[in-house]
Amino acid sequence: MTSPACIFCKIIKGDIPSFKLFESDKVFAFLDIQPLSRGHALVIPKFHGAKLTDIPDEYLTELLPVAKKIAQATGAEDFNVLQNNGRAAHQLVDHVHFHVIPKPNEKEGLGISWPAQ
Ligand code: 5GP
Repeated sequence: MTSPACIFCKIIKGDIPSFKLFESDKVFAFLDIQPLSRGHALVIPKFHGAKLTDIPDEYLTELLPVAKKIAQATGAEDFNVLQNNGRAAHQLVDHVHFHVIPKPNEKEGLGISWPAQ
């Protein structure tokens, strides 16, 4: 299910370009256009819904393993995985997305090797 006006649905379709990291039949992952750190990625379901509560479980169960795979691929020891729901929770794009935000390792930097397959 997609929404014609949604920018993340357009990214999934390829109508808006993105740096794709991973794609399966239910999940899409790409680099954030305004990264909070190098390698900041977004992991989204290929099902349009604004909030976590709008997404069928069969999509949700595939999202976290992909977030984990991407976090591992960055080589970052420390990272955030977060997901905002609603304006009061700082959600700007109304298509569910998990942020994966690597924290640079002060000793070794980020050993990113994309794609995260
Ligand atoms: P939110 O505040 O909704 O949790 O975060 C939305 C995220 O989507 C932001 O970090 C923002 O930079 C990212 N974003 C918004 N539009 C685009 C876009 O067109 N392409 C990409 N790659 N990221 C986007």
